[in-house]
Amino acid sequence: MMEYPLQAPFLRLAAMALGLLTIGAANAGGIFYGLQPQQVADGVYIFEGRQEHFTRRNGGNIVNTGFVITSAGVVVLDTGPSRAYGEEMRRAIAQVTDQPIHSVYLTHHHPDHFLGNQAFEDVPICALPYTREMIERDGEALLDNMYNLLSGWMGGTYVVAPDCTAEPGPVTVGERTLEVIAGAGHSGPEASDLMLHDQRSDTLFAGDLVFYDRAPTTPHADLSRWVALLHELERELPRTLVPGHGPVTRDVEAVLQTRDYVEWLASALREAAEQGLDMAEALELEVPERFRHLAVVDEELRRSVAHLYPGYETQALNQVIDGLQ
Ligand SMILES: [Zn+2]
Repeated sequence: MMEYPLQAPFLRLAAMALGLLTIGAANAGGIFYGLQPQQVADGVYIFEGRQEHFTRRNGGNIVNTGFVITSAGVVVLDTGPSRAYGEEMRRAIAQVTDQPIHSVYLTHHHPDHFLGNQAFEDVPICALPYTREMIERDGEALLDNMYNLLSGWMGGTYVVAPDCTAEPGPVTVGERTLEVIAGAGHSGPEASDLMLHDQRSDTLFAGDLVFYDRAPTTPHADLSRWVALLHELERELPRTLVPGHGPVTRDVEAVLQTRDYVEWLASALREAAEQGLDMAEALELEVPERFRHLAVVDEELRRSVAHLYPGYETQALNQVIDGLQ
């Protein structure tokens, strides 16, 4: 997930200073995410984040990251929201295996997924071309916003852009074959969302194309492409599915839940625009009962309306104009 960038660099400097102080304390136990590797398949682990927004209590630990151990090293999937997170992740991986880190794959360009890159600067950090472009373009603004939201947790974090382009298709690492899949819909329109499939265990890291028991975020979403991809995923469900946010699952429920929400959101916004509701009225849209149990659903719906509704209003207006011609 991500928030809009909206803040001045001086706040980052202030937070950096605070971060240095806090990291001083961290050595005595201050900044500590408490990351616990959770094995989800043979040689496949995740660090499961909380079902919350970014807060100064959770330090941005709201995301699932993971790693796959091979005989040629460890492949890491996403690096979390901060330098401190990435470093802690790396220490936690070293508790599980003696294998060195082989490479990193990023699912997409949202800041909870890549700002731990600094801890992995010595290995290739791979991402789809679109993700590389977006991090180059927006990385600094995303970082500023994270300093604003998380303050000392971000201490010493800077943007490390990926230095390797992920090509869709199989990648052999040691005895394992990992397939890079270029999806779309969550963070952009085309080949924007990387999924990584471990063939041996049939585990799919779905990134933020799948949310489970947490409302999806949509700041760069293409809702119809997202729905189409989730139809495909339903047909080719892996044995183990790791969502970007929410618990790991072995059944189809997470895919259906994400799709149901995204489809509902698209049709609710379209109908509201066709009825001529203004933004303030659209912000009052009610969350249907079946989504009430999703974490942070009220906040996410308001955010989705705020960034998606103007597009739906334009579409509705164009339809009216077309009808007059
Ligand atoms: Zn995310």
